[in-house]
Amino acid sequence: TQSETGKLKRLYAQAGQLYHHILVNTKLGQPALDHLHERGLSDELIAEFQLGYAPQAEILQAFFHEKKLDDYQTLRKSGLFSEREGEDLAERFNDRIMFPIRDQTGSIIAFSGRLLTPDKKLPKYLNSPEGILFNKRKVLFNFDKAKKTIRHESKVYLFEGFMDVLAAWRAGIKNGVASMGTSLTSEQIYLLEQTASKLYICYDGDLPGRKATKRALELIAPLSKFDLGAILLPEKLDPDEYVRKYGPENFKDFVTSHERTELEFYLEYFRVGRNLETESDQLAYITDVLEKVAQVKDPLARDLTLNRLAKEFELDKNNLTSQLQALMQQVQ
Ligand code: ATP
Ligand code: MN
Ligand code: MN
Ligand code: MN
Repeated sequence: TQSETGKLKRLYAQAGQLYHHILVNTKLGQPALDHLHERGLSDELIAEFQLGYAPQAEILQAFFHEKKLDDYQTLRKSGLFSEREGEDLAERFNDRIMFPIRDQTGSIIAFSGRLLTPDKKLPKYLNSPEGILFNKRKVLFNFDKAKKTIRHESKVYLFEGFMDVLAAWRAGIKNGVASMGTSLTSEQIYLLEQTASKLYICYDGDLPGRKATKRALELIAPLSKFDLGAILLPEKLDPDEYVRKYGPENFKDFVTSHERTELEFYLEYFRVGRNLETESDQLAYITDVLEKVAQVKDPLARDLTLNRLAKEFELDKNNLTSQLQALMQQVQ
């Protein structure tokens, strides 16, 4: 009901303020604040995103009691606690840097917490459970803040992690979002398509990031009319690491000058693990690329790619064209 979501939103808003207060004003939060400063986040950015810290200590119940927000059923349903034996509520987030997750109007509807002290037995990131407020299929981190720029530039960048969105923001890229640690959903694609015509994937530069980029392109292409592309970061860096290594200005320059089309991505991707000096790998490579070319709607983009293949492998373009036509008939 309306009042139930209202209550939960108030709870989340208050929890967001408390976590933020603990991070920026208390001794308990100091190690987390040091960690964020070391990673190059300024106090302004920390305040703008209302980052927080959930300490080991149990603090929420007393706080909610004081705020007269301690209706047991609401607390129980909030996802901020996990139930222990009996009636006891134990806090869900312990020793975690807290990223508020907001709906389109900017209300906090969930948190994602990143473990401060690494621990192999615990997940690095932990999200609020899904519930009446939070459906992770429908939410994109930072969409509330980014949508103005997404609309204005008719372009959106999709990052892997929350820290990457923040790093990009710091570099002046204010149209970046991230999904909730899962692959993009059709709901999210639809939402973005209402707001922009161009979408660039900018995932981590490591092999899992490259593979995830391919999966994302393959998922989005048939579902949308986006002009699709990707940015391939060098040296296995993720955006956050790139910004820390080379600085925010260089990150922005790199991204804006390395927006590759879908086909350019595949031309590069299918090279991985192949020796293009050998004929069998050449053939396999050309076949993989042509299969992708066959799925691309823009005839000019198709033609450009054929030219490149013909040139690189000293092939007759007519040959490639007839191969492609055969493949395109299969697709239809
Ligand atoms: P950091 O730089 O803080 O270590 P990251 O963003 O580089 O974090 P990755 O391991 O690259 O971390 O993961 C990217 C994203 O995937 C995270 O931001 C998070 O949304 C999600 N994620 C990572 N690990 C987990 C996990 N164990 N459970 C759920 N989601 C996760
Ligand atoms: Mn990664
Ligand atoms: Mn990463
Ligand atoms: Mn990272």
